Amino acid sequence: MVGVKLYFAILVSGLSAMSVVVGDYALDPGLGRVYRGFGVVVEGGVIVDAGEGDVLVGRYPRYERLVVKRGVIVPSFVDSHTHLAMVLLRARAGLLGMGEWFSEVVLPRERLLGPAEVGLGSLVGGVELALSGASGFVDMYFHEESVLEAGRRLGLRGVYTYGMVDNGDPAKAESELRETRRLADLVASLGDRRVRTAVAPHTPYTCSPALLSEAATLARERGLDLHIHLAERADEKRLTAERFGVEVRDWASYLSGLGVLGGGVSPVCFHCTHLSQDEFSALGRGGGFAVLNPTSNLRLGNGAPPIRSVLSSGIGFGLGTDGAASNDDLSMLSEAKLLALLAGVGSGLDVWGVLRALTLPAERFFGVKVGLRMGCTADLAVFRMGLGSNPAADPALGLVFSPGGFKCEYLFVGGKPVVEAGSVVGVDVDSLMDDYERAVYSVEGRLAGVGR
Ligand SMILES: [Zn+2]
Repeated sequence: MVGVKLYFAILVSGLSAMSVVVGDYALDPGLGRVYRGFGVVVEGGVIVDAGEGDVLVGRYPRYERLVVKRGVIVPSFVDSHTHLAMVLLRARAGLLGMGEWFSEVVLPRERLLGPAEVGLGSLVGGVELALSGASGFVDMYFHEESVLEAGRRLGLRGVYTYGMVDNGDPAKAESELRETRRLADLVASLGDRRVRTAVAPHTPYTCSPALLSEAATLARERGLDLHIHLAERADEKRLTAERFGVEVRDWASYLSGLGVLGGGVSPVCFHCTHLSQDEFSALGRGGGFAVLNPTSNLRLGNGAPPIRSVLSSGIGFGLGTDGAASNDDLSMLSEAKLLALLAGVGSGLDVWGVLRALTLPAERFFGVKVGLRMGCTADLAVFRMGLGSNPAADPALGLVFSPGGFKCEYLFVGGKPVVEAGSVVGVDVDSLMDDYERAVYSVEGRLAGVGR
């Protein structure tokens, strides 16, 4: 991918592989606990000791010491559904509904994007996510190998998937499956534990029943997850019926009839804006997982995710940005605040539940151990409380409801610093923005027929 190397002149972080990280507070979402004056000792990518910060500093005198004033240590976040490269299409949705947005904004521009542009956009998106405290993301796009290169350059964890669409064309279905196999082979050949893939039919209304069924077979054969957008729009059952001549009574039955749910396939379903509690329960019983994308859903007029149905069904769930074209932000804390507000008083979703949705999906997607205890993976974010925060108040409430007061100062992925002193290690953001600006003007110019 041309150009990426320019931003990585300095790849070496100032921090060593053995560090004692100490903050004023630490939050463990899995346990729902706040610690004061807490520290963790990081070595070999895992937490090898944890407890009172002052004690740890004395116990490990030879280790690098990172004491963050007004710091809050928390397991880092996962953007459980995104399209990183869509930063190239940011702030263009206006007041368009989903259908018009897709046909007027997305499709004409995506037709013009080459691998270098997708890579550049993904780099920009990855930098934004890292600065929001995310150490991992789940992406779906095309030219996905360019997304993968960007994610690896940044040192983030990623699930990289190729979004398959056949619209009922058997030849297209075959080529889409070929592309998915090619990506799976590439990921397997890398032997990089930060890199994962999944089989990703785009939606039930753009993928024929035959393609969905073959996708499930492929997922089963390769031992991969299956990812799909599901019930994002209110009219998806009708669209699916019209396009493919099938009847969809409920999504769980439709998917299980095609082998997409059950028999070793536990789908990860994005959006789920128009699923009933019964559908969530059936998906959950089959090991399915829901990813909510509240900003994107509201932005495109699809409604709010049915959070209470999600909670009462007991299905596991995460939170995603859905990319900057429909968000238009890539801030995990903003997404968290919206989720908390939509859930509302009396829903049973407290700030710990929100923080769990931000952090625990890393276990499902990346096989890491999330937490601040000994033996947990050193995927950590350290936020600094500044203007807009109340350092004497509950930091879990602050992080979720006053996100503007918390700045990600450090981000560790498997113990390696990706964000250091508020900047992404080795990335010259100004130069990256120059290229981003050129790329966006180039796309818009080509779209207008200029520069052909
Ligand atoms: Zn999406």
